[in-house]
Amino acid sequence: MKVFQSPPSLNTTRRFPDNMTNAHALLLKAKMGEKGNRKETGYAVPAFNVTTFQGINAAFKAFELLGSSGLLAFSNSALKHFGLGDPLFGLEVASEYVAKMAKRSSVKIATHLDHGDYTSEAGRKVVQGAVEMLTSVMADNSTDHNTKKSTDLADNIGYTREVVNMAHPVGVSVEGELGVLAGEEDEDTKSDFSTYTNPDEFEKFITETGVLLIAPTIGTMHGPNKGKPGQKVKLNIELAHELLKIADRVQPETVFVAHGASTLYPQVVEYTVNQMGQIGSALADRFTQTWKDFVGTDWKQIKGLISAGFAKINTDTENRQTYLAGLLGAVNENSAKIDIRWYDNQTTDAITQSYIMKLIMAGDYGVWYEPKINVDKFVFDLNRSLKEAIEAAK
Ligand SMILES: [Zn+2]
Repeated sequence: MKVFQSPPSLNTTRRFPDNMTNAHALLLKAKMGEKGNRKETGYAVPAFNVTTFQGINAAFKAFELLGSSGLLAFSNSALKHFGLGDPLFGLEVASEYVAKMAKRSSVKIATHLDHGDYTSEAGRKVVQGAVEMLTSVMADNSTDHNTKKSTDLADNIGYTREVVNMAHPVGVSVEGELGVLAGEEDEDTKSDFSTYTNPDEFEKFITETGVLLIAPTIGTMHGPNKGKPGQKVKLNIELAHELLKIADRVQPETVFVAHGASTLYPQVVEYTVNQMGQIGSALADRFTQTWKDFVGTDWKQIKGLISAGFAKINTDTENRQTYLAGLLGAVNENSAKIDIRWYDNQTTDAITQSYIMKLIMAGDYGVWYEPKINVDKFVFDLNRSLKEAIEAAK
């Protein structure tokens, strides 16, 4: 007879480089509403998918301005980008860069592998590397990344448990996924179908894998088009509360993760359409409609998720869009500026505004010290510089 062995618990005494910690520590604090010595209502930590050094710099600038908990996520394709095609080299480069930035910072930072794939040989190497070099990993085994079909529950549990066995003893938190999310995040996470998380399977999954972070599917979608234009995504908040009840009974330290939760900024769309119009009608004719057709999840529903125990909100699309908006604005302002730094600064400042806004929306500010601006007065507006936006909120 096979005896069920309980999964190893997360080693919370592991020392990471200065100011770095595992994601679960930051997320549990958020779920409990802990800020400084105070206890408030729960908030969420947005996980920013960073793909460039400028993106990392922008995130640090936002965290430090607001005294936020910082969560930087790396997808496999981002790691390839950092690593000149080699995700393992990308892990080395990116993790050392973040550790150096964290050392001179005054907030706490976690680094996370997004959509780690333990179902394939190549993916397994990246997950193993991430356990060594990051502070948190996602073991996304709900979909077979080769066949794009959903895996059996037993396989998902088996793979995920292997990652927990490897990661928890060295203090690295693990995120599991149960159910399949529709949409396309990047080349590695495309799916045309989605299924809701089944509550009975959910209980079995968290009990047997031991994961403390779990991404259930309750109706969110990856990518910039979360529905037909004009349609709204409807999240199953009721199901989220049902799952929260189970988690509270089985493992109260469980935190939920929302994937595909990008809420697009209407002012960014408006700004971009305006810039394209100014650059030339040919450009505007080709792309204005695409921009207007982007559909995000409305923030009201995401707030509903936060109150149902979702402490990690993955955000990517709106930041990518903001980068592009900033680039168009920079090109429009001066297309003869022969200075790479200038374009870098313009786009980095744009993303920083987007990050500041998202941290404020999620309630992730004043965690380590009081914010350096009045968060109620901050207005995300690409028509002015980052410096002006910050000054206006002082
Ligand atoms: Zn995702």
